[in-house]
Amino acid sequence: MSLGGAMDLSGLNPAQKQVVEHGSGPVLVVAGAGTGKTHVLTMRVAYLAIERKVPVDQILALTFTDKAAREMEERVDKLLPYGMLETRIMTFHSFGERILKEFGHDLGLPINMNLMSKAQQMVFLRQNLDNLELDYYAPIGDPASYLGSLASYFSRLSDELVSESKYDEFIKKLKNHSQDEADEVDSSRHQELLRAYRHYRRLKSEAGLVDYDDLISLVVELFDQKPNVLREVQQSIEHILVDEFQDTNRSQNRLLQQLAGPKGNLMVVGDDDQSIYRFRGAAVANILEFTDFYQDVTTIVLTENYRSSQQILDNAYRLIQHNNPDRLEPQQQINKYLTARTSGPEPQVWVLPTYSLEADALAIDIKRRLDEGQPASSIAVLLRKKNQADILAPALRRHNVEYRLADQLSLFEHPEVAILLQVLQVVVDPLDSGSLYHVMVSNLFGFDLSFLMEQASLARRRNLTLEAQLRQSEPVGETADRLDSFFELLEAWRRRSSELTAGQLLFEICERTGYINDYVKRSQSDAVAVLAVQNISRLFASIAEFERVATDKSAIGWGAVAESLREAGESPEAVEQEVAPSEIQLMTIHKAKGLEFETVYLFDLIKGSFPGSNRREAISLPSELAGELGVQPGERHLQEERRLMYVAMTRAKTNLIMTYSPDHGGKLRRKPSPFIEEALGQPAPELIEENKVAIIQQELELFRPTGRKASYSAPEHIFLTPHQIDDYLSCPANFHFRHIMKVPEPPAPALMYGTLIHEAINRYFQMRSKGGVSEKDLLLLVDKLWASDGFISVGQEQKRREQAVATIKAFIKRQDTQKDLPISTERSFEFNIDDINTTVRGRIDAIFQVGESIEIRDYKTSPIDDVKKADAKAKGSVQLAVYALAWRQMTGVVPDRTVLDYVETGVEGVYQPAAGDLEHTLKQIRQVAAGIRSGSFQPSGNCFYCSHPKEVKVAA
Ligand code: ATP
Ligand code: MG
Repeated sequence: MSLGGAMDLSGLNPAQKQVVEHGSGPVLVVAGAGTGKTHVLTMRVAYLAIERKVPVDQILALTFTDKAAREMEERVDKLLPYGMLETRIMTFHSFGERILKEFGHDLGLPINMNLMSKAQQMVFLRQNLDNLELDYYAPIGDPASYLGSLASYFSRLSDELVSESKYDEFIKKLKNHSQDEADEVDSSRHQELLRAYRHYRRLKSEAGLVDYDDLISLVVELFDQKPNVLREVQQSIEHILVDEFQDTNRSQNRLLQQLAGPKGNLMVVGDDDQSIYRFRGAAVANILEFTDFYQDVTTIVLTENYRSSQQILDNAYRLIQHNNPDRLEPQQQINKYLTARTSGPEPQVWVLPTYSLEADALAIDIKRRLDEGQPASSIAVLLRKKNQADILAPALRRHNVEYRLADQLSLFEHPEVAILLQVLQVVVDPLDSGSLYHVMVSNLFGFDLSFLMEQASLARRRNLTLEAQLRQSEPVGETADRLDSFFELLEAWRRRSSELTAGQLLFEICERTGYINDYVKRSQSDAVAVLAVQNISRLFASIAEFERVATDKSAIGWGAVAESLREAGESPEAVEQEVAPSEIQLMTIHKAKGLEFETVYLFDLIKGSFPGSNRREAISLPSELAGELGVQPGERHLQEERRLMYVAMTRAKTNLIMTYSPDHGGKLRRKPSPFIEEALGQPAPELIEENKVAIIQQELELFRPTGRKASYSAPEHIFLTPHQIDDYLSCPANFHFRHIMKVPEPPAPALMYGTLIHEAINRYFQMRSKGGVSEKDLLLLVDKLWASDGFISVGQEQKRREQAVATIKAFIKRQDTQKDLPISTERSFEFNIDDINTTVRGRIDAIFQVGESIEIRDYKTSPIDDVKKADAKAKGSVQLAVYALAWRQMTGVVPDRTVLDYVETGVEGVYQPAAGDLEHTLKQIRQVAAGIRSGSFQPSGNCFYCSHPKEVKVAA
């Protein structure tokens, strides 16, 4: 295989070419996003191999994540002639692991070095709790509660290369400057931390164990102590290249310095404006100090951007200027203004009336792009926090957009794994009602949800655990049998739990319930089930790791470890899911680093979410030890968040869409993220602005049901209320809009008013059945239940309120002269139409019995004052007809009268249903169910939505 084929560098710009063709000595490439840093680094690896004939295994390229390393490897492999040796492209940690495996014995490490997983580290700490001599950090009530935080703290010490002696000096200084009791406590707290750190390191080394952080720090130590080892390693590496250098921490930086020496062939590329892992110890200082440590540094700046449009770049640039003067650009007088090769639309800001409409608008826009043929892989929604997906994901599903949540869930959070952890929990802890509830309703046991809800509510009321409540409950029929066998199993597992290890017990549970088998069976045709099986097996692997080191291998021991892991945010990683070509991506900004997409949405940009709040670590490293730049902590946090925004914006090639909504439920109106204004150079648009409302209207216009039903899937069992039946009959499109898409509706004063009057009527009858009616008490309801939402003016609200009082008073007066009381009020009903899998359910306002005759009465608040009109309404009322039908289904008797009682005017509309009417209603219900099943939602043209599509859109 010839290695002589010259590489084609003609596509590179002069600065890029300079990077690729650089001779020897240290190089610092600082450049903004999308300037081809990763691209040229990859090219250089190939160039060194092909043109300079450097043996591939002597080129070391370092990145941060496994994913980045794999991607780079793929790109290099494409450039290299077939058959070349394996490249050394890897993460810092895997490099460290290799070195320790090869040379660890020089440090006194055992030949078979034992690398602890995070779970094992937690077990190790727990088992050595007494040896750590903790006091402040081992509260008597729950001595292990800080273990997760301690592990993170030890990690930080290691990342920042804080040696024991350096820490000691720091504490001495603290003591000397101590002025009051608070200072005293602080220095003794650090004393304790240092002591624990010492013990931890000693115990670890005695046991021949290393943790994840040691993979770097021990190598640094090794190179410091054994120059011969360092030389040997140095001789095997001719060139070192590092991507995303801005995120290296101190110990990684030190490692590079040792390996390369001041004159070495080290090339680092980075962008100080994209440093987003400061909380993990990364420091911009590393870039700043590069020219101090290394000699004859060639600095290359790339300013030509190959990714984004000029419009996107200009906005991002405007934003990041707000981090001045703490940036390299002003400090080193370099130019980081990026020029694009393309021009495109201005970034857009959408403001939507509510948070859920915001999610819907976004989903609709994505759907439109997909329908227009834009590939799903070129679309991404970036989130500041992963829980923002909670509202977005359902919206995407509603609009039939397939998506992939990029490894958002850790292993323990995956539902198939979470439920197994909860079963173990239930076995060892009878007091854990929450877990018991989840386990019982899960597909493991599949208890009836409403039964359990009722039991849970009873348990709360009686102040019992759910288990205690269930044991004294007296269910009937099938539920009783199933409950018995459930408790039998549970007791058997409890007995076994002391003999079996956590893993054995879990295995038995899975076997007994057929849990894994179910997934395995499904996995033959279902990709989701395949992943579930893989995740379950990861859980077993994780428990096996735990059992290898734990002295208490039982489910109780495991439960405690799992808890610490969760607290420290260190749940093992779930199986990575391949993104299907039909899926758009949903990911946190942190995960999107280095990636690019044609269209990027930044969702939920409100103040308070972005910048997010400055969450302090439970135990934080003093900034003096962290060697941070002299910026105030609050400011530092804001700058970090701003860099995150910069990363987010610069992922977009052509379309950048930022959205927010002032209404997240609750009273508080949310403000737009200040970053929007910083980027646009002008205030973020607000909802009231006419033109912005127009944008919303235009976007939400897409809510109009299209009649397309390509991906609509009808429910297996249909539940209908009289109200829904009525909606469908009057306009199927309206029904679809309200009940299938569940488009949120603006607060309606009429609805609140109606509820209030109904409640008053209901109370009236209750009072009367108990003897006395107090008008005053009834009128108090108005104050209690009144809500001001949705009224256009104070005057309108006041008028309506007076009307409520008047209506209630008039009702009381009218009723007081009646001697008959209803035999039932607010009576719930439910009946099935079995052959079409449909259930109708609802509630009847009041049922009267006068002599033998039955009367069904529905109270209305609309101002009808004409008896003829009222009679016609009663005759045509779908609602009354369904009530009558329900009554017949329940009692076998057709009611004699159905009445619409207009309480505001005192007018009644009466209709006497005949048996034929009920058959007609039944037919109508069948028609509705059939329509829903076949997905036909044609607009009838006579509903509010059909005639006022725009008014509906703007809720404010
Ligand atoms: P980030 O700062 O986001 O990590 P980066 O500086 O590493 O970005 P790359 O991802 O390497 O930038 O490049 C951005 C895009 O520009 C990629 O699609 C890359 O293929 C393309 N690109 C880079 N240089 C050139 C070039 N000379 N000609 C054509 N395309 C290029
Ligand atoms: Mg890159």
